[in-house]
Amino acid sequence: MSVYSIKLIKQQQVAEGTMAFFFKRPAGFEFAGGQSVDMTLINPPETDAEGDTRAFSLASAPHEPDLMIATRIRDTAFKRTLKGLQPGTEVKIEGPFGSMTLHRKTNRPAVILAGGIGITPFRSMIVQATEGNTGHSLFLFYSNRRPEDAAFLAELQELARQRENLTLVATMTNLENSQADWSGETGHISLELLMKYVTDLADPIYYTAGPPALVAAMKELLNEAGVDEDDVNSEDFSGY
Ligand SMILES: Cc1cc2nc3c(=O)[nH]c(=O)nc-3n(C[C@H](O)[C@H](O)[C@H](O)COP(=O)(O)OP(=O)(O)OC[C@H]3O[C@@H](n4cnc5c(N)ncnc54)[C@H](O)[C@@H]3O)c2cc1C
Repeated sequence: MSVYSIKLIKQQQVAEGTMAFFFKRPAGFEFAGGQSVDMTLINPPETDAEGDTRAFSLASAPHEPDLMIATRIRDTAFKRTLKGLQPGTEVKIEGPFGSMTLHRKTNRPAVILAGGIGITPFRSMIVQATEGNTGHSLFLFYSNRRPEDAAFLAELQELARQRENLTLVATMTNLENSQADWSGETGHISLELLMKYVTDLADPIYYTAGPPALVAAMKELLNEAGVDEDDVNSEDFSGY
């Protein structure tokens, strides 16, 4: 597996407490939407027991010029250092890793179940598929506590408006604490919600990623719906 040093271009807030980091893409680095890298900080000013390396899904699509990751900024040595990085600073990445990439046969729809920061591999996958006109029919169920927490929501809403083959079902679970207007779905991703938008649950290939508790809940839901486990692709963001 190849190791690259990459330079930070900029950072940008993409939701409350959530930052995207854009890096210059190294020559020869190829990946597919849905894959991840291991990122290592070089000589960080502080470190802790978890060390200087974290796995991140690439949230940028393969055809986009920069590499982008996005993360919840929590109070850990790694995240404090990451947030403090100045443009031009180098970090190391190793990869790409992972086999959670979009299926090739477009006769079966893709149903994506994302919660919170678990959106990152799917932003990449969806932008790749829509820009590349792959012909996939895509359903994105995207659950967050509040609209303020939902990274890339405005961009995904715009994409869904433009592309007939992308259905976005964003749902909020804790609107009481939100200042935002919301007229979309509420509550957790449930069988009822899936059935409201997907006519035959046995037809699609499913994708889910994010904190392990969310991934486990989504797999359980699909199991209860009678979905064949061979049709479910998942990625645990261990560490959340
Ligand atoms: C394949 C893969 C892809 C991933 N993609 C992404 C991604 O795109 N974006 C992303 O953000 N992460 C992603 N992760 C997870 C990422 O690697 C980190 O584990 C995660 O971001 C947490 O890092 P941390 O520095 O905040 O906490 P760590 O220091 O790694 O946390 C260590 C432990 O402390 C706990 N902990 C730390 N801080 C808190 C807190 N504030 N509240 C409660 N518990 C806490 C954690 O639960 C964990 O058990 C991915 C992981 C994998 C395996």
